[in-house]
Amino acid sequence: MTTSVSSINEYFYCPLKVYLKEYTKPQENITPQQEIQKLHGKIRKQVLKEYQNSVKKNFRIIQDNMNASEINQKLFKDIPKILRKVMKEHHINPNDEAEFLEDLKEDLKIQTAILALKTNQIINKGYNDPNYLSELLFPPIIENYLIKNFDLGLSGLIDKIEVVDGTYFPIKQKTGRGPLRGVWDSDALELAAYSILLEYEFNTEILVGFINYGNINDKRPVVINTKLREKLQEVLQSIYSIKKGILPEINLNLKKCEKCDYNKACKENIDFT
Ligand code: SF4
Repeated sequence: MTTSVSSINEYFYCPLKVYLKEYTKPQENITPQQEIQKLHGKIRKQVLKEYQNSVKKNFRIIQDNMNASEINQKLFKDIPKILRKVMKEHHINPNDEAEFLEDLKEDLKIQTAILALKTNQIINKGYNDPNYLSELLFPPIIENYLIKNFDLGLSGLIDKIEVVDGTYFPIKQKTGRGPLRGVWDSDALELAAYSILLEYEFNTEILVGFINYGNINDKRPVVINTKLREKLQEVLQSIYSIKKGILPEINLNLKKCEKCDYNKACKENIDFT
């Protein structure tokens, strides 16, 4: 038996969710809001993939004498076309999803501006080979890597692992936006758990991982230090005891309850009086 790393996020959302997941069945009905979120996630993922391909292609038209703003224009030029294409493939009228599209375009604008700056710095150092730029800015990755470790009692699906000069960097993809600075505590702990799994799997040491917010490569580093590892052990111990049937203490947050997958099971099984 292993505990999934995703339990950490559930635990932070509401410890009772971990209990209900273990001892009840989740609601089967997906709400219309969840359907829309799922579709938006799928579209974002596809747009990002096509965007990266277009950026790699457009590295070929970057000249040594271009500044960051000119590079930005070249890298951004295919985005409206990509958005139209993907929306068409999903049979979506862009007017019906104007807000989502605007949001997505804004995220891509930010990502392109950052990429343009990095590209400019690299070509200023005399490297303008498109293959080199692609490798440096989009390093080789292993995707969806599943690890189960019975000694640790942990399992998890790591979204991405970048391998740079033999060093492994786990990356956790998150759909929402991150905090103003850094990453959410629950995300850091999840990443620490993936790091420990990776260390065992590849007999290596992980010093840094990344949380990628919003599917736009807003990649924020997390140092996997001793303090984080100790905090992870504390949280895992709490999760293990909940899974053994010990009810956790609850601070009710009705906003969270409204969106919770276990709302119905919770009302049916838990006595809050
Ligand atoms: S419905 Fe509310 S109290 Fe129950 S598990 Fe979900 S968030 Fe926690």
